[in-house]
Amino acid sequence: MSVTPAKPVLVSDAAVQRPSREQALEAVRTLIAWAGDNPDRPGLIDTPKRVVDAYGEWFDGYEADAAKELSRTFEDVTGYDDMVILREIEVESHCEHHLAPFLGKAYVAYLPGEKVVGISKLARVVEIFARRLQNQETLTNDIIEAIESQLQPKGVAVMIDAAHQCMTTRGVHHRHVSTVTTRFTGAFKSDPALAERFLKLAKG
Ligand SMILES: [Zn+2]
Repeated sequence: MSVTPAKPVLVSDAAVQRPSREQALEAVRTLIAWAGDNPDRPGLIDTPKRVVDAYGEWFDGYEADAAKELSRTFEDVTGYDDMVILREIEVESHCEHHLAPFLGKAYVAYLPGEKVVGISKLARVVEIFARRLQNQETLTNDIIEAIESQLQPKGVAVMIDAAHQCMTTRGVHHRHVSTVTTRFTGAFKSDPALAERFLKLAKG
């Protein structure tokens, strides 16, 4: 059996050794059998391969560096001194408690200091953190902190509105519940009118 060389794990806990692809395939087979089915039947025989490939896409945020995305900044804002807001950024993520998808939208605003960044980069930062395992509160914080530390803006506001499949398809089965998280820093925190305006613009 050929063994794919293990890539290092890009999480803070360096003691975690990334398993080989073969070990990951075997783990999916185990979960199929645990669900009560036969991983060797024709319909399921290639499923471990598909699941492992899908994991490669869903969790490719571990391979990316949000700080690097925000490192190319511009200083010429030609007198623009209001918030920059991105609305309805798609969030496709997985909760760390159940590995279940949660889907929704993110709204990100910042009040530029000396530096501005290409707006597509802000959406990319959301994507990078979404494609890791976490909960919605951590996702909100991670986005804020990356923007804070790289751009040193006068303030950042983030709102995420998402439906968690661990809540809609199991447990309490609350089909229409969505979770809203918000966090404000700097001027958004000290000036309620600014926060209010962000929320209003976010709603459209
Ligand atoms: Zn969950």
